[in-house]
Amino acid sequence: MQFLATTKPGAAEFTSQLGGNAARKGNERMFSDLSMYSTPPSENITLEEFERLALARLSVLKEMEAYRLRHSNKTEKEYLDKLNQLKQKHMKGLTASAAAAAAAAGASGAAATSAAREEEVRADNISHYVLRLAYCRTAELRKWFLVQECEMFRLKFGMYSAQEHEDFLSEHAPQYKLVPHAELLSVRDAIVKVMRSNLETREAISRVENFGRDDADAKSKGPRSTADARELEPKFYKVAWTLVPELVSQRRVLLRGGWAYVSREALAPLVVAEFRTGVSRGLSEMARRWRQMFPAEEEQRLQPLVASLTNRSLVADYSGVATRYGDVSAANLPQVAARHFPLCMGHLVSQLAAERHLRHGGRQQLGLFLKGIGLPMEEALVFWRSMFAPRCTGEAFDKQYAYNIRHNYGREGKRTDYTAHKCTTIVGSSGGPGDHHGCPYRRLDESALRAALGRLKCDDRKVEEAVSKARDGHYQLACAAAFEGVHRVPEMDVGISAPLQYYAESRRICAERESAAVQGAAAAATEAAAAAATAATAADAGGDPAAAAAADAGKEQRGVKRAAAGDSTPGAAR
Ligand code: SF4
Repeated sequence: MQFLATTKPGAAEFTSQLGGNAARKGNERMFSDLSMYSTPPSENITLEEFERLALARLSVLKEMEAYRLRHSNKTEKEYLDKLNQLKQKHMKGLTASAAAAAAAAGASGAAATSAAREEEVRADNISHYVLRLAYCRTAELRKWFLVQECEMFRLKFGMYSAQEHEDFLSEHAPQYKLVPHAELLSVRDAIVKVMRSNLETREAISRVENFGRDDADAKSKGPRSTADARELEPKFYKVAWTLVPELVSQRRVLLRGGWAYVSREALAPLVVAEFRTGVSRGLSEMARRWRQMFPAEEEQRLQPLVASLTNRSLVADYSGVATRYGDVSAANLPQVAARHFPLCMGHLVSQLAAERHLRHGGRQQLGLFLKGIGLPMEEALVFWRSMFAPRCTGEAFDKQYAYNIRHNYGREGKRTDYTAHKCTTIVGSSGGPGDHHGCPYRRLDESALRAALGRLKCDDRKVEEAVSKARDGHYQLACAAAFEGVHRVPEMDVGISAPLQYYAESRRICAERESAAVQGAAAAATEAAAAAATAATAADAGGDPAAAAAADAGKEQRGVKRAAAGDSTPGAAR
């Protein structure tokens, strides 16, 4: 793919044609949701669409990766369902407009559906190539992208029906030729022999053995039965033997006239491997030509945008957390920390309290986070000074540490407005002995981690999940599991990406619960008052003293409620 200079402001242009994944079937134009991405898109698109499509695909890939890591025991069908659900969530909104536009233009339902399908294929192709461009820059990025894309391809290809495989392969991989019915009959017994020698399952062998024997029977039951039988019958593809040297050397396929007869099931890994090779080659080629992809005039505009895609946080922007929950002061910081801080920050606060000191890395990590949650600079100075005492006198603190705090708030030196670290930075900065910064899911051993999560009153099952994720090096997923265990919330779609995210989510959940509790109490009081009023009416009518007492209580309750609501009407709380 070559990225060309755009002649239109705000538009990006790709070379070559879209349509590599459009397949013909009869007179109907079909759009496959699977592509080998051998043909880059070639059209003008706005920079907004360029970025939107890339971020949508990135969200699908990242959430799918997190789902697989957290649920290693799901079936392929469940993984595919999740993938479709994520595509629906992130990409559907971007392509729904095509169907709406077609419908508004008076197109029939089928035409509108086809327009939406075509738009989906277009979005899929563009988003793949934009991410290919963004992720080609380093070996690590290339590896991540390749793994995610191959996994997505493998899932979709694996769940295709026999007919869909046939359509896809005839369009994208014509080197795999479907063995015609008559030819398969002629080699059936030889294939069975090979299958037996490879100890394949009895069921698979008997499907091939019975191939062709039930034709007359199916025909006699009508066309529907014939179609069903066709779908169930074994499919084999003829491949030049040089393309499958491993299968040949392991004698797992029948060889005839230079062709290897490969079953549909055995073909899937070959097609995935071919997909992998194609994308990997494309990534390397792009990496080699990275500079040429952007003409001089694009260096300032498109290049930084593409480069930033790999660092972009896909979760909401938490920079507003300071104004939303700006009630933090030096006095209430310990309580806020105990309830809402992620382990990395809670750990620093407790080490600071225990040692009355933190080294530079810890002070930076915690200090910028405290600034991020809205602790004013003056309060930060009070907090740090009190935490360093009595080990450090006020005078010594002002000399050694106060400047740095003011600097973090942009009041000294270059007056830069520094922001809080994200998880990727913290995970990568572990320091040495005596340092406490970094991510505890990475730094702490298993027993220390279990103890730390226990202190947060994390649910036992989630503690084990977090420890296991941390053991496998998935620290942000471990943190998400801990968050779920501490706050008793359902599973998050992705891992925690920043301590500020953890904090903001924790504050939001607690605020919602508190407001629900207040509303629940108010509703209960209303109900009680109404019940008492009903009892009073009944008592007045029947002269029951107990009911009359309940009625008085009801009146009192109503009065209290009105007073609580600020009703100063004389006699309101009588
Ligand atoms: S994953 Fe992020 S928020 Fe959680 S403890 Fe590690 S650095 Fe802190």
